[in-house]
Amino acid sequence: MADIDIKSFRSGFNGQVYEPTDAGYDEARQIWNASVYKHPRLIARCSGLADVISAVDFGRRNNLLTAIRGGGHNVGGRALCDDGLVIDLSRMKAVLVDGATRRVRVQGGATLGDLDRETHVFGLAVPCGIVPKTGIGGLTLGGGVGWLIRKYGMSIDNLLSAQVVTADGKVLTASASENDDLFWALRGGGGNFGVVTSFEFQAHPVTTVLGGLLLYPREMAVDVIRHFRDYMESAPDELTAYAALLHGPDGSPLVGVIPCFCGNVTDGERILQPLRKFGSPILDGVQAMPFPAMQSLLSPSFPDGNHNYWKSTLQHELPDDAIAAIVEHSNRLNSPLSFVVLEYYGGAAGRVPSDATAFPHRSLPWDILFCAQWTDPVQTNLHRDWARSGEEILRPFSQNAHLLSALDVEGEDVIKTAFGPNLTRLAAIKRKYDPANFFRVNQNIKSGV
Ligand SMILES: Cc1cc2nc3c(=O)[nH]c(=O)nc-3n(C[C@H](O)[C@H](O)[C@H](O)COP(=O)(O)OP(=O)(O)OC[C@H]3O[C@@H](n4cnc5c(N)ncnc54)[C@H](O)[C@@H]3O)c2cc1C
Repeated sequence: MADIDIKSFRSGFNGQVYEPTDAGYDEARQIWNASVYKHPRLIARCSGLADVISAVDFGRRNNLLTAIRGGGHNVGGRALCDDGLVIDLSRMKAVLVDGATRRVRVQGGATLGDLDRETHVFGLAVPCGIVPKTGIGGLTLGGGVGWLIRKYGMSIDNLLSAQVVTADGKVLTASASENDDLFWALRGGGGNFGVVTSFEFQAHPVTTVLGGLLLYPREMAVDVIRHFRDYMESAPDELTAYAALLHGPDGSPLVGVIPCFCGNVTDGERILQPLRKFGSPILDGVQAMPFPAMQSLLSPSFPDGNHNYWKSTLQHELPDDAIAAIVEHSNRLNSPLSFVVLEYYGGAAGRVPSDATAFPHRSLPWDILFCAQWTDPVQTNLHRDWARSGEEILRPFSQNAHLLSALDVEGEDVIKTAFGPNLTRLAAIKRKYDPANFFRVNQNIKSGV
């Protein structure tokens, strides 16, 4: 690679710069998934907007492959790149809440945990995902699904504006009234259009929720999931719930249902009765809890530093045959750390037209996610094959559609189906804001599509 003047870049940079020979470099290139092993030439950990502009300009002028790191939770490791520049936002974590307007301004490197902690002070919450260490950046740009989706929509449905550094180093505001094409594209188009240095969200009054785990022996899986499906398809919007095929701490195979009711707790106690009374759960951990506690409930299932590979598919419906196939495949799990999650969306998220934002899959409420997780790298192929074949057996039931946020290392065809019918418009917006495809370490939209 040609010589680049890193010395002068360093001298004008306020945050930290790591080269491979610097102390802290190895730590700075760690992300959640241990299967990702990349060696950037330079990691620029920005302290603010001015650093981001410097880094973008430096990357562009020196023709460096450039990645953007938010929370480092992209399963395929798109927060990093080999031999190039990483624009690392992990120091930019400020969250400012205006309790009167319920508006929240969040810097681009904040995590869900950072956001929930601050909004909870005001009795508010922004709809986002279910694991606190996940980055708001990648999650929002991919759509953002979580415990409040049925009542308040996806994260993008609550995005009011974003501050973006584009490939030419300019700072733009994207909102319904400014650069509205960019605003549309950011809501589901991934990291293709620039570095989002801050997001502004509408928050909602959510403090205590009724939630927790219901666990049953695996032998009950087919019945539990059928009942969960039937119940959820007519459940009120206040209730979002997922089912999972997982293992207990002793390795015993289990099936679980995880509800989160965000309305009045007394109403919730009544509404959740049919779910809680079904069968005889070996554990009923459902209780009233602060929303941030609900958000942390599943963290132990996603520890840092394990090997991970994900496959997922979106479906219109969950017929009995699909349930039988999922349970049968789960019973072949190669690792007690792996699991399958059946997520049901719909509600407020499903009532937004498919072309209102770049996220196209509003009419596909079922997401079936095969999460392979293991500790011994020698077993990588075994676990990846399990996740891949899980998605393959569901093809007869699926719509060949995928959730951008759940994509691992994928071929271009899968990335295209994640953008679905909105891809042509996204490509035109890419041509306008990033014609040279400077931002390409992502689920990439080629401007020529
Ligand atoms: C344990 C775990 C739990 C998850 N749970 C959920 C969930 O409940 N709901 C859900 O919707 N998704 C969930 N996801 C998926 C998650 O939303 C995506 O993996 C997302 O990419 C993570 O964002 P990040 O900022 O942490 O990722 P990173 O790996 O840091 O970034 C991923 C990509 O996003 C882009 N990006 C990130 N930040 C910015 C920014 N500020 N500006 C421009 N581009 C940016 C870049 O293209 C980057 O390559 C989960 C993932 C994991 C690993």
